[in-house]
Amino acid sequence: MARKVAARKIALVGIGKIAVDQHVPAINASSDWDLVATVSRKGQVSGVEGFTTLEAMLDARPEVEVISLALPPVPRFAYAWAALQAGKHVMLEKPPGATLAEVHALQALAREKGLSLYTTWHSRMAHAVAPAKAWLADKTVTRAHITWREDVRKWHPGQDWVFEPGGMGVFDPGSNALSILTEILPAPVHLTGAELDFPANRQTPSAARLNFTGSVTADFDWRQEGPQTWDIEIETPQGRLALRTGGNVLEIDGRPAAGENSIMGEYPALYARMADLVRAGESEVDLAPMVHVADAMTLGRRVTVEAFEF
Ligand code: NAP
Repeated sequence: MARKVAARKIALVGIGKIAVDQHVPAINASSDWDLVATVSRKGQVSGVEGFTTLEAMLDARPEVEVISLALPPVPRFAYAWAALQAGKHVMLEKPPGATLAEVHALQALAREKGLSLYTTWHSRMAHAVAPAKAWLADKTVTRAHITWREDVRKWHPGQDWVFEPGGMGVFDPGSNALSILTEILPAPVHLTGAELDFPANRQTPSAARLNFTGSVTADFDWRQEGPQTWDIEIETPQGRLALRTGGNVLEIDGRPAAGENSIMGEYPALYARMADLVRAGESEVDLAPMVHVADAMTLGRRVTVEAFEF
């Protein structure tokens, strides 16, 4: 591919499933970015110089301005810290860290260094999220329910890290739903109770049922085979809103109202936002979805269920 004139030089770290499926196509399709290096112990992107350590990439390619981290949450912090220390703007995959405190530490470092830090939440960029937020803005929510049921074997094939401490289990996809909820609700809610299903051989839950203030509930399950369900249904005195297919399609009172049944707009929108943040010298750090996850892990009742194998 021809190099883009005036595009900012970016390096992508962690060449795994989401880097290949979404990050690389989104960067390559954008005139804002020029992907000049990758860092991954095993992964490669054809036509792009690959390094196996961040240090080697930083030494060899000092012109890189922005580093995008598509690693799992636990190893991500050390890379983010080193990238900011080296004077690079940083973009974090979701969930933005393994803990809240480590993201606060990154936020403080980015501020001190005058760098942009972006905690991305790709589901917030789904086609129907902005119209749903606009429709709800002047309404009172009387009830809301999230159904987020998908097949972990399809979306995280063989990725044992999702069941290790910090991998977050079903909250890995569940945080996508919570990122939409926290974006569109006209008033914030907080968690009041949770029940978490832990497979007997795993460290993170494979299913969770959550209760929030304001009659908001959620049902997350990673064991769903066949059709996948990513729905948020909200009742107001003025009518019913439903977001289907992960926030990409909006229905009002059962009729299609906005959106497009495709997830392919999310990552291009994240990279466009990162370009805007760097241009403006700003950061965007929003931990609201992760606060709900941390609260569920703190308050949740643990139920041991059948062992899980990929
Ligand atoms: P993945 O394929 O398992 O991991 C991405 C890459 O990170 C791996 O290929 C690996 O590359 C590197 N890596 C893994 N563990 C590491 C470690 N301990 N130290 C250093 N590097 C390590 O995971 P993924 O599915 O792409 O998910 C990565 C992030 O994207 C997660 O936060 C996830 O929530 C998010 N995400 C995933 C999806 C999805 O559909 N899977 C969708 C949206 C967002 P090397 O071995 O080559 O170093």
